[in-house]
Amino acid sequence: MTQMRLVVVGAGGRMGRTLIRAIIEAPDLALAGAIEPAGSELIGRDAGELVGLPALGLAVSEDALEAFAAAEGVIDFTVPAASVAFAALAAQARIVHVIGTTGFSQEDEAKIEAASRHAAIVKSGNMSLGVNLLSALVKRVARTLDEGFDIEIVEMHHNRKIDAPSGTALLLGQAAAEGRGVSLAENGVFERHGHTGARKAGDIGFATLRGGTVVGDHNVIFAGTGERIELGHRAESREIFARGALAAARWARGRKPELYSMVDVLGLAD
Ligand code: NAP
Repeated sequence: MTQMRLVVVGAGGRMGRTLIRAIIEAPDLALAGAIEPAGSELIGRDAGELVGLPALGLAVSEDALEAFAAAEGVIDFTVPAASVAFAALAAQARIVHVIGTTGFSQEDEAKIEAASRHAAIVKSGNMSLGVNLLSALVKRVARTLDEGFDIEIVEMHHNRKIDAPSGTALLLGQAAAEGRGVSLAENGVFERHGHTGARKAGDIGFATLRGGTVVGDHNVIFAGTGERIELGHRAESREIFARGALAAARWARGRKPELYSMVDVLGLAD
């Protein structure tokens, strides 16, 4: 098979740079474009040099449409408004769209769902093998235990993160809710402050910590009477997300338009 030509949007971001490096290093992939928002000081810089590698002869550009027209896929770890716009462009170009961005509103989610009628989209709040496996385990444990076990999800990320709780914490909360057969929207507790009263049975609680350079720590606690089960994951490097996102792009190549998740890519659906 020929190399899969991929565009990285948000090329100058923490994930963008990690993705560019991973694509350059993968023999079956080729970097077809590196996109930054209009006005970015990175426009015109060589994409290889941007990530500390030899020059590629490919300049960072603001013209997503032109780049998408010459590619088979786009890898997107940016911000919700940008990802929604990129979904429409990727649908127009009929190319695979891998979305790692987190913090979408329900309205954004609906727009992405609409775009998936025209192109294959793989979207996940966490692209790593470990977290997706953890989510399958959380679902299983939540299905086994009743409301006698309180579910709490604790996460910690670096001090630059702009959304809370993390997309991964929400993904794990969703897995717990599905395992229990309840809705996360109705049972999730995202804030506690002041005189909150006692914990309600069936709540799924979230706690958010921010600081330093932590790539991503998640713990799901099932707290029962006199015992506690804890399932956790520690991301030590952003490369695990890049590796997952590129595996998703390869997997989605040639698939029919639909909104897929990493659970589909990794074959973890039950
Ligand atoms: P970051 O360093 O802030 O990078 C975001 C990049 O997107 C920046 O380069 C930004 O450019 C760019 N951008 C914003 N608007 C754009 C537009 N309209 N067109 C093109 N580029 C645009 O953030 P990060 O740490 O890489 O994380 C990015 C997202 O991925 C976050 O939502 C994060 O939660 C998520 N994430 C997901 C996973 C996963 O596995 N799913 C893993 C890690 C991170 P400027 O700086 O010039 O605005």
